[in-house]
Amino acid sequence: MNYYSTNGKVCGVSLRQAVIKGLADDKGLFMPEVIKCLPQTFFDKIDTFSFQEIAYEVANAFFGEDVDAKALREIVYDALNFDVPLAKVTNSIYSLELFHGPTLAFKDVGARFMSRLLSYFIKNEGETDVNVLVATSGDTGSAVANGFLGVAGIHVYVLYPKGLVSPIQECQFTTLGQNITALEVDGTFDDCQSLVKNAFMDKDLNAKMKLTSANSINVARFLPQAFYYFYAYAQLKKMGKSDNVVVCVPSGNFGNITAGLFGKRMGLPVKRFIAANNRNDIFLQYLRTGKYSPRPSVATIANAMDVGDPSNFARVLDLYGGSHEAVCADISGAAYNDAQIAETIKQCFAETSYLLDPHGACGYRALSEGLADGETGVFLETAHPAKFKDTVEKIISAKVSIPEKLQAFLKGEKKSVPVAKTFEAFKNYLMSVK
Ligand SMILES: *Cc1c(COP(=O)(O)O)cnc(C)c1O
Repeated sequence: MNYYSTNGKVCGVSLRQAVIKGLADDKGLFMPEVIKCLPQTFFDKIDTFSFQEIAYEVANAFFGEDVDAKALREIVYDALNFDVPLAKVTNSIYSLELFHGPTLAFKDVGARFMSRLLSYFIKNEGETDVNVLVATSGDTGSAVANGFLGVAGIHVYVLYPKGLVSPIQECQFTTLGQNITALEVDGTFDDCQSLVKNAFMDKDLNAKMKLTSANSINVARFLPQAFYYFYAYAQLKKMGKSDNVVVCVPSGNFGNITAGLFGKRMGLPVKRFIAANNRNDIFLQYLRTGKYSPRPSVATIANAMDVGDPSNFARVLDLYGGSHEAVCADISGAAYNDAQIAETIKQCFAETSYLLDPHGACGYRALSEGLADGETGVFLETAHPAKFKDTVEKIISAKVSIPEKLQAFLKGEKKSVPVAKTFEAFKNYLMSVK
């Protein structure tokens, strides 16, 4: 399967090239030339399949032309060795718990899949010494660092905004060592993201080292996120709840929701989507006005969604042929400030005893406000509430216990390299590494 760029100047790029390059030469995002529909027989029996079986069928539609079938099955089964259960919160609202992977956040899925796919290209197609650059507002860094830890031939640089990620998030990528280097940037997440984007365009750096991205701009990280939408549907079907499904996605860079939109294109019967934002409501404003006006991000308690210029917006537009009307027909939006997020966590916990994290809370609230009669809502619970322990404890005035997986990270020794937010400083650092 070949890939083209959303900026329209690049096409006919192989999967391997698209994964290695991350961003196209014209600065656009790669899109597959064809989005294959899955057969009706698959949907008829989907409720009898496991998460891994479903994921393999979807992976085969994306990558089956480029990766040997046996290897692809191994990649899927090895990457997705944890469950993605659907938890009932109210009679009509379900939480798709994407936090049962190693770093307790949904990005584990894409990160683990991407590392194994890249490793397949290194082993079988002679790729060598790849350097992954990843900007993180918290969860991407931990998922990518852990997903790639110890993978031969790959070095990961995690760029994170100093003081703007939670202590637990920070130790998940600063304590690993081996092939993982954490760079503590004196700036915001948007600064980190722009350093990474500039690095890909820099001639000197690209001459020195092979660079790739692991943000959701990379197709190998982004597309696998479609898997669990199908599995959510399978679980609803098993319960006889699969008519009029509304999926609500807490969104920042819009990679997660875009993968769901791909799922719909492949035939997944989702009636409509809701993109839930925090105060960084650039997408909601686009839905209302038809104009896309990026602006600097503001810090919120749902910090993995503090994004002022969502990188996957270009993919959403491309998927709908640039039509605002077509986008609005499939997706609506919602946005909540910190006080509303806190109120939602508190109220949901009091009424249902289900504990939301600040991101999932935006999703839950959008469904409780926006679900019509006869619809069943699923929101993506993108992280475990313990990842935001201090925030959540203050809100519910009760202790949140830390799962063992997370405690293990807290015991490690933090190591990071401080860097200024100027591209010059970042470039000098990379040019100096051996
Ligand atoms: C990354 C992240 C998001 C936002 O996902 P996008 O794909 O960037 O829209 C939401 N919640 C959590 C916990 C995250 O880590």
